[in-house]
Amino acid sequence: MIIFEQVNKCFGKTQVLKNLDVHIREGEVFVLCGPSGSGKSTMLRCINGLESINSGRVIVGGVDVFSPATDRRKLRAGIGFVFQQFNLYPHLTARGNITLALIKVLKLSRKQAEARALSRLDKVGVRDKADSFPAELSGGQQQRVAIARALAMEPKIILFDEPTSALDPEMIGEVHGVIKELAREGYTILCITHEMGFAREIAHRVAFMDEGRIIEEGTPEDFFSRPQNQRTRAFLAQVL
Ligand code: ADP
Ligand code: MG
Repeated sequence: MIIFEQVNKCFGKTQVLKNLDVHIREGEVFVLCGPSGSGKSTMLRCINGLESINSGRVIVGGVDVFSPATDRRKLRAGIGFVFQQFNLYPHLTARGNITLALIKVLKLSRKQAEARALSRLDKVGVRDKADSFPAELSGGQQQRVAIARALAMEPKIILFDEPTSALDPEMIGEVHGVIKELAREGYTILCITHEMGFAREIAHRVAFMDEGRIIEEGTPEDFFSRPQNQRTRAFLAQVL
């Protein structure tokens, strides 16, 4: 579903992704962890073509992301992206945040868009906040609205970039609960997180990235119980 083949990516003289080879299957829940600055967010952003690459290929659902023939706006519309900082439009209500792309990009009628927005808000447990603005919502509620917005586009793939790292501890559980449910429903999920208990619960595979390379990956059981690489062990000792 998501394939990286020998991907190299530089920012100026800094090489951020180094010969990256990754293959994420349809329906797989893939958790990525690693130190700050190791290239995790850059990797995620390559999947929907928000970053360019210097060499290699990224194939998503059979589509070559960086081929000149690819309509990246269309590709992006089919991939859910949930950010650390929620990225809701502050001047729109929860409902308005969701209906915007449904009407502008998917060309739904207002009535269809409203109905879909309410159903997705219901799914993540914040239907009663449909008419609230982001500033009136807690961080956990804002992130659930952001997830509802992603789901409303009916993606097969959802990318999460540290979805709970901006939240107060008491709100992390409610967002993890929603992501766990999506994992059970068969979405292809790539989640960057440092919440290792959560990773262990949802992941089919956990990978550790360091300096632009995935240096270790395995089932949660192997990854957490028997990490092979010294740097993985040092990292886990810090975050566990
Ligand atoms: P992570 O998500 O693992 O913390 P990032 O992918 O955000 O890492 O960043 C990897 C490296 O790329 C860092 O050294 C960062 O400073 C650099 N970087 C990220 N985005 C840019 C950019 N737009 N321009 C220049 N350097 C960048
Ligand atoms: Mg990051």
